[in-house]
Amino acid sequence: MASTASNKLVAAQDDVAHRGARRTENRQKAAELAPTTDAQGLVEFACECMSGDCERTVRAPLYVYRRLLDSDQYLLQAGHHAFTSYRTIVQLGLMRIEERA
Ligand SMILES: [Zn+2]
Repeated sequence: MASTASNKLVAAQDDVAHRGARRTENRQKAAELAPTTDAQGLVEFACECMSGDCERTVRAPLYVYRRLLDSDQYLLQAGHHAFTSYRTIVQLGLMRIEERA
């Protein structure tokens, strides 16, 4: 059925939009002068995976996330999704930074 393929395409576009929205949200948080941190000084960011229904958060040091924003080739993830086109370069507990291969 043609509609199945187009539904998949729409779902994929939703996922890309979702990730873009997460990145925008995280970028705004990282741009704050004094974002809320936990006892270890970590800031809670949203997982930047492609899954539209993922609501997981990832705690990362602010300076690490700011460095990650400097380049377009990194994603912050909650450690539960693997991308074939990305490789994991940093993993600390549930925090995982992936680099575009
Ligand atoms: Zn996720």
